[in-house]
Amino acid sequence: MRHPLPEHGQDWKGLRARMGEMGAGDVRWRDGKAAVYVFNAGEEIEQVQREAYTLYMAENGLGPLAFPSLKRMEEMVVGYGLSLFHAPEGAAGNTTTGGTDSITMALKAARDYARKDRGVTGPLNIVLPRSAHPAFDKAAAVMEIEVRRTSLKDYLADAEAMGAAADGSTVMIVGSAPCFPYGLIDPIGALSDLAVKRGLWLHVDACVGGYIAPFVRMNGGDVPDFDFALPGVSSMSADLHKYGYCAKGASTVFFRTEALRERMVFDFADWPGGRMITPTLAGTRPGGAIAAAYAVMTVLGVEGYRAKQGEVTGARAKIQAGVTERGFQVIGDPQLGILAYTHPTLDCLAIWARLRERGWFTSVTTEPKGLHLMLSPVHARVADTYLADLDAAMAEVSGAAMEVTAPRYS
Ligand SMILES: *Cc1c(COP(=O)(O)O)cnc(C)c1O
Repeated sequence: MRHPLPEHGQDWKGLRARMGEMGAGDVRWRDGKAAVYVFNAGEEIEQVQREAYTLYMAENGLGPLAFPSLKRMEEMVVGYGLSLFHAPEGAAGNTTTGGTDSITMALKAARDYARKDRGVTGPLNIVLPRSAHPAFDKAAAVMEIEVRRTSLKDYLADAEAMGAAADGSTVMIVGSAPCFPYGLIDPIGALSDLAVKRGLWLHVDACVGGYIAPFVRMNGGDVPDFDFALPGVSSMSADLHKYGYCAKGASTVFFRTEALRERMVFDFADWPGGRMITPTLAGTRPGGAIAAAYAVMTVLGVEGYRAKQGEVTGARAKIQAGVTERGFQVIGDPQLGILAYTHPTLDCLAIWARLRERGWFTSVTTEPKGLHLMLSPVHARVADTYLADLDAAMAEVSGAAMEVTAPRYS
């Protein structure tokens, strides 16, 4: 639909107020009513994001010679990640604009590695557990790579099935730490063994878990090895704009060696505009997102992250106990900030809709039908409210279910 650009520009003050009003119908995430899309670490961190973002909002990470500031901040952020993920000497990475960017570029690197270093010709494929993120399918669609999704075992990647699906044309196998649907960490150790034995490129998708799992482990959580500590891991993705609590438009992608990272970089000079070297999918790279990531990580530090992630796992444990008491079955044994749960008799999608009427915006699972929460520190404060609203939603749904299903089954 066409909207004519205003002939005369409008006054910013008035427009600003109206733009605030435009958000009136949005989910009230600052009150903790969203358990998807937004990661809410509180007002102080929001202020750090905002101020650091505006400091470098106009600057462009495409030009490291013009902006050594951003280059330095990117190096610091990447260095933080490499150290958290037990990367060996010589490992390397970049910041990207998001998880999809990180995954696409990791796949591009693995694809070029297969073609140039392994000499693979003909059609290519990647092997994913059924629970892996659709970003892999999107990247594979762009590169015309076949996707082989293998079935899960106890809701986790099945290394045996993945080994059977992989062949000489497999450019990458994937494990998630954790997967988005269930919040469970795949057996990355078994996938690493498979990768070592068969010479496969293993990518660990720690987009949602990368910046929470190390701190949950430091807090005493039962988190298995999932990173470069395992010898078969070639690359990793970890999103800063999720449990890193950074401003949106920020993720990281890492490679075990600089030689592997070089397979990601696009270096082009055959046009009249001079040589252009871009490590990631973006051309122009938003300086604000890089600056905000550097600021939030440096402000929080290990202690800050441990405290925030402790609030997340505390909220998860409380809600997990609460839903279990109410007759739900939690899927698997979640250790981080995501949990999913099903009910033996009630329709979870109907419960989801009732919770939505009470202002909650959360997610669902479809295999099996279940409710899904991706929790933030803010949820430690509202867990009781959620459970009370869940009671109300369950009562409404069980009433409706009797009316609807009674005639059918009588
Ligand atoms: C969020 C997510 C992605 C994709 O990240 P975007 O930043 O949304 O592009 C990939 N994998 C997992 C497991 C995720 O949770």
